[in-house]
Amino acid sequence: MTAINSEPELILTPSAPWEVLESEADELLQQLFPICRSLTGDGVRETLSTLQRVTNFEVREIPSGTECYDWTIPDEWNVTDAYVSDSSGVKLIDFQKNNVHLVGYSVPIDETMSFQELDEHLHTLPGLHDAIPYRTSYYHRDWGFCLTHEQYSRMDRNAEYKVRIDSTLEPGSLTLGDYLVEGDSGQEFLISTYCCHPSLGNDNLSGQVLWALLLRHLKGKKTRHSYRFVIAPETIGAIAYLSQNEHVMKTLSGGFVLTTVAGPGKHGYKQTFLGDHLIDRVVSRTFKEEQLDHTLYPFDINGSDERQYSSQNSRIPMGTICKDKYFEYDSYHTSLDNLDFISAKNLVATLKLYISAIGNLEMNGTYRSLYTYSEPMLSKRGLYPTIGGHRKQKAMGQVKDQVEKKCSANDAETPTALDINAMMWVMFYGDGLASLLDISEKTGLSLKVLYGAAVKLCTNDLLEEV
Ligand code: ZN
Repeated sequence: MTAINSEPELILTPSAPWEVLESEADELLQQLFPICRSLTGDGVRETLSTLQRVTNFEVREIPSGTECYDWTIPDEWNVTDAYVSDSSGVKLIDFQKNNVHLVGYSVPIDETMSFQELDEHLHTLPGLHDAIPYRTSYYHRDWGFCLTHEQYSRMDRNAEYKVRIDSTLEPGSLTLGDYLVEGDSGQEFLISTYCCHPSLGNDNLSGQVLWALLLRHLKGKKTRHSYRFVIAPETIGAIAYLSQNEHVMKTLSGGFVLTTVAGPGKHGYKQTFLGDHLIDRVVSRTFKEEQLDHTLYPFDINGSDERQYSSQNSRIPMGTICKDKYFEYDSYHTSLDNLDFISAKNLVATLKLYISAIGNLEMNGTYRSLYTYSEPMLSKRGLYPTIGGHRKQKAMGQVKDQVEKKCSANDAETPTALDINAMMWVMFYGDGLASLLDISEKTGLSLKVLYGAAVKLCTNDLLEEV
């Protein structure tokens, strides 16, 4: 028998029933949502340590001032309180009620000022009256508050306001996490997400929770490929990771940026910069197999960390499966992107898609037929029913027609019509060059069915993996 790794199918089996994963995801979302995250600071540490309880991974600190290519790790920002109050001490804008109220990286302040002075530091969304916008000022020392336009309209233009921000902005470090799930194919893929937004749900608490659940899932399996999991603040964190791991990052084969995975809308897929890379093709097959109505987004330079990881020096093709993609929903980057907008059920639905896509990636081997003169005689190897004639003929096995119909009753070992079809296709195209993904695209048969056929054929010395 030709050596073959028969584990990849197991990738598709969840570590716990999906409903159990949903309630776990829900608990994590509730627990992590209130934390004030930013590029740096204790909010990121608290988030990562909570996720480490799901599954362990390395946490690393990169000191402020460290040069990372063209960028420098900024000072660390922490905040304990922030508010704007009126003359009678009533807090009109209160960080404790919603951390999105405070512009990220605001410098400390304790002053009383006129509305006009304060107004220069206020941010609202006139088009979305009841939403607090999310704003940051990472690389320009400033301060500010965000509030709903409704709140803003009610503020007395002639009054004086007390403004207080108890924050610290001083040398510390940037915190990130990583873990390598090791396979033996020599191919490595990147699974990244970002952890820097305060109390916002879909963008990107949902991505962080999915990242941890997916990491735990793959750690529990024997994988063919390696998977490098990275969780870091967006942009600067990805750049820092690239600069500190340049040698290995240049060798990666592709990957995914996990973001906005739990909204109520349609699933979507943002293609890699290549558009027809293995990652794109695997996701496309996965969506077809799931018969998933989805939106396709071509690569765009505006987005997330794919533009760092896909930079010319590393050029890792990165795709993104999302559910309500960033930029596309009204509450994006506002306080309305909250726990009412997302759900653990939606998150786990996207987790399933990622598991299926990675399962397909794992099952996508390339094989060579060891018998090429004609169709091999399958029946003498027990790979074909002994009574002929009743097999449903199909020129091309359409995915939706993949009925597991036994050729002979009460015999689990007897191949189905689908199995036979798949074995014949794999023998026909398996020339050492065509991958199972190629054959899947040509025939419409799922990777799982083709992979099962390849395993059977290898076991019977009719096929070998290249
Ligand atoms: Zn964002």
